[in-house]
Amino acid sequence: THKDINYAEAPEGHAGAGFFATSLEKIVGLARANSLWPLPFATSCCGIEFMATMGSTYDLSRFGSERMSFSPRQADVLMVMGTIAKKMGPVVKQVYEQMAEPRWVIAVGACATSGGIFDTYSVLQGIDRIIPVDVYVPGCPPRPEQILDGVMRVQDLAENESLRRRNSPEYQALLASYNIK
Ligand code: SF4
Repeated sequence: THKDINYAEAPEGHAGAGFFATSLEKIVGLARANSLWPLPFATSCCGIEFMATMGSTYDLSRFGSERMSFSPRQADVLMVMGTIAKKMGPVVKQVYEQMAEPRWVIAVGACATSGGIFDTYSVLQGIDRIIPVDVYVPGCPPRPEQILDGVMRVQDLAENESLRRRNSPEYQALLASYNIK
């Protein structure tokens, strides 16, 4: 019975939140996870692999993510694919800032993750120097299966995210550490 529950030890989401809130959270999570709208920020070769990922063989639309958004206002997953020059960094950051919450970021490939082979003065050594990244997809370039795997990892994050996370002090501190508006 409910008297037997030790609320101090009950898992998060059951203690205090109540049945309605946890059920709503699950429904919202499922809806978000299965209708992610990516914004493809493709600058070079990794972008070509993304085109293959969108084709009928790999078929990203199986995961409800076929609706590409080229407006940050209608996107919730920023997929950065390719080499990001330092001069382009502020543009990536501005695009991210224009996206509404909840928003996720995938760094696709070695260049977006760490600068890749371009260890040089003009190339950003990883987009996580300017915006928070949720999922890193390794490879130069990653195969379409790996890009799909990255999207599925964002689905996991979206499905299991607490509705309160975006307003939490921890998340606000993360944005502040990147000087994100
Ligand atoms: Fe090109 Fe490799 Fe960089 Fe991808 S990681 S953009 S394939 S150089």
